[in-house]
Amino acid sequence: VLEVVGLKKSFGEHAALDGVDFRVEDSEVVAILGPSGSGKSTLVRCIDQLESIDGGAMYLDGELLGYERHNGHIRPLRDSDIQRQRRRMGMVFQQFNLFPHWTVLRNVTEAPITVHGIPPAEAKKRALELLDRVGLADKADAHPRQLSGGQQQRVAIARAVAARPRVLLFDEPTSSLDPELVGEVLHVMKDLATSGMTMVVVTHEMDFARGVADRCVFMAEGKVIEDRPAQEFFAAPRSTRLKAFLTRST
Ligand code: ATP
Ligand code: MG
Repeated sequence: VLEVVGLKKSFGEHAALDGVDFRVEDSEVVAILGPSGSGKSTLVRCIDQLESIDGGAMYLDGELLGYERHNGHIRPLRDSDIQRQRRRMGMVFQQFNLFPHWTVLRNVTEAPITVHGIPPAEAKKRALELLDRVGLADKADAHPRQLSGGQQQRVAIARAVAARPRVLLFDEPTSSLDPELVGEVLHVMKDLATSGMTMVVVTHEMDFARGVADRCVFMAEGKVIEDRPAQEFFAAPRSTRLKAFLTRST
């Protein structure tokens, strides 16, 4: 269970997150929607501890993220503890972020071997299984530049899954892809969702949010405006802002 309570994050004077609460149950898929600048990326970056936070708290399975209680005070965790917590999250970015000089296979096996201490033979076996699952069994020895954007993003997803995260975070995973390549990536994400992966997905893909997500969260100006089961979210939006957003986006 991932819990975010009263999360605040400012850049200078600007409150990018202005008291965000939300909760993701195990095996749940939550889509985060909202206009540009509403704080969606900042939220997932805070959860992955790529950004410091200015207020509120986040918990994974009840464990406070980024901080610890000490003699009645709250203090930041040491880097090694933050790294340990971050290993339980997987992040998939808009721009894949694969290492260009490594083969596809090495991109997928590197973290399991060097960070998680999995024996290389076992990491390779599992990576090949995952590449097969995302439809890229024949690309293990290719380099990222030899792949299409959709293929690169599928490798990035396999890489994230290889580390066996508790939660997978996606920040607009299909936004930089040519339209004809979007479907193959969404297909892989849907397969993961069906397999019980806990997922938080920032997306503009309304069909994915409607058809795959259990819940949809609508953000505007750093706040959660609506957080509802996906069917209700689309069928009966309550706020004027969400109604306007859905009219524009669908
Ligand atoms: P988009 O749909 O365009 O990706 P978003 O909902 O992901 O938008 P964020 O990137 O989270 O929005 O940004 C929220 C607000 O915080 C914006 O006003 C943005 O300009 C600001 N912001 C985000 N990152 C930084 C940063 N590193 N420095 C300064 N301001 C930032
Ligand atoms: Mg963003």
